[in-house]
Parts: sequence; structure tokens; C-alpha cells
Amino acid sequence: MSGKTSIYRFMSAGCNGCDVQILECLVPRYKLADLGVEVVFTPEEANVLAITGGINVKGREELKKAYEKLKPPKLVVAVGNCAITKEIFDKGYPMVGPPDQIIPVNFYISGCPPRPQAIVTAVAKALGATLEEKEEYWATPEGFRGKHEFDSEKCMGCGACAQVCSSDAIDVLEDNGKRFIKVDYGHCSFCAFCQDECPTEAIKLTKEYHMLTDNRNTANVTNEVDLFKCASCGTYFIPARQVEWALQRIENEVSEYKDFHRNLRTAMELCHTCRRKISNIRNAKKLLSQLSPKVRAV
Ligand code: SF4
Ligand code: SF4
Repeated sequence: MSGKTSIYRFMSAGCNGCDVQILECLVPRYKLADLGVEVVFTPEEANVLAITGGINVKGREELKKAYEKLKPPKLVVAVGNCAITKEIFDKGYPMVGPPDQIIPVNFYISGCPPRPQAIVTAVAKALGATLEEKEEYWATPEGFRGKHEFDSEKCMGCGACAQVCSSDAIDVLEDNGKRFIKVDYGHCSFCAFCQDECPTEAIKLTKEYHMLTDNRNTANVTNEVDLFKCASCGTYFIPARQVEWALQRIENEVSEYKDFHRNLRTAMELCHTCRRKISNIRNAKKLLSQLSPKVRAV
């Protein structure tokens, strides 16, 4: 994009945090103005629309009008999670959608709110501009919480991270013998509960904060693990690593259980449906003895 870049800020339903970050980009420390970017106050003066917040009933028509008035090349950037998924405003009765369901959106910058540097970098990338490599400019403070990193050796796919996620940002999906743990940056508020609660310290929030994408579907990070088949019915039902982890933990906590290692393992290799079919101990013993050779072969 050549020539002057003029940004018009549009906010419909949000907390205003992302809008404040856009304005912060204009202070000397963040140098958005050095890239030849200005913030203007009417859409007629602008060629870039920076949207923060989800869109409510009243905002829908205003957004369409603002987009119509934009000058070419009509670049639209969704800034922050509410502008990507509606986030915490999702269930609000007047909400009609994230902006990309109403007008075309070119770029998405995840965050709650995105860091000013992430916005500046995103704009620079959209403009094809180069930014200074100054440590004090780009450095993140101690304890900064950015993008996630999975340790695929440690992650057992238990889904505990998804259960504690404050923003419902982690999906646990299963397909063809695999389980996928997917962090969606359209929802993540970077609270780090997932990191704190992971039993194997497999998920960490790094200092990486660059979140620009032109494809909403790529705003995520995913880890995959193998699932284990039920020893009785053959249905995939639990991550293989989780079986090992649980066994190890039981035996570490209660050393006497080591004597029952094989029985414990056999019981754990039955899915919930098959376990429910065991009506009493006698049936359980019968089933386990039938299964033993099969289980040994797994
Ligand atoms: S990251 Fe941790 S909590 Fe999440 S699925 Fe993997 S092991 Fe479980
Ligand atoms: S940091 Fe983890 S727990 Fe917090 S919102 Fe993001 S995915 Fe959820």
C-alpha cells in the first residue's frame, strides 16, 4: 500500500481496551506515526478501518456506512478478540456478529487487548514498511504472557487446560485416533490458567506477541496426541499417554498398588461404556481374565 495511511477507528461493542492500544501506538515510544500513519476522525478521510469490539444491532448499519465511505484500498483490520469472535459479548442479545460477518476483513490481530507493538508490526506488515530493531522498543516485561508453546513430549492430551480455561478458548477435538488440543486466539485472554494447571507443565505462555493473520482460521496453536483403543470394544477413548501417567501416579501415591499393576492397567484400558457393563465383581473378573491376553498384546 503506497501513499498516506489514514486509520479510522470503529468501535461497536467492547470494553474500549483495544481502542486505547491503537491510540497508544501513536505516542513517540511506539512510532506508528513514523510509518506515515495517522488517525483520522471520519471514514471519508480514511483508507484503513480499524475495528475494535463486536458488532451490535445499532453498529451494523454504521459499520456498513463507514466501509462504504472508506477510500481505496479499503483495508479493514479487526483489532482484538471481540472484533474477531465477539468474545465475552458473544451471548449478548443485541450482538449481530464479528465484523467479518458484515463487511470484508483483511487482517486480524488477536489479543485481549493486543500489545501496541503487535498492532504497529501488523500495520507495518500491511504497508510493507520496515521497523527499527531496537531492543527497548520490542522487549517484553518479565512475566509477560504471549503465545502458547506446547511441549509435545510432555502433553498427554488430558484436557485439564481446557477445563480451567477462563475464556473457553481451548477446544479438545478428536478425529481418527487422534486428540487435538487447540488454543483459539480469537478467544484467549492470556490469563495463563492453562499453564498453571497443566499437570505435566506441557503448555507455556511465551513472550511472543505478534498475532497478525489474514486468515481467521489460522489464529490458533494445536497439539496432537494418539488415542488408545478400548481393549473390549475397540473404540478410541483416552490418550495413550494419559493411561501411563495415571498408572504411574497411582503407584507412586500408593506403593501397594504396584502389586496390582496388571489388573489396574487392564481396568484402565476399558472405555466408560464397557466399564458400565460390568455389573459385579464376578463379571469383572471374568471379563478381565478374557481380556488379559489381548491386553498383553497391546
Ligand atoms: S497441555 Fe497439559 S493440561 Fe493441556 S492437554 Fe496437554 S497435558 Fe493436559
Ligand atoms: S491463557 Fe490459557 S486458560 Fe487463559 S484464556 Fe488463554 S487458553 Fe484459556
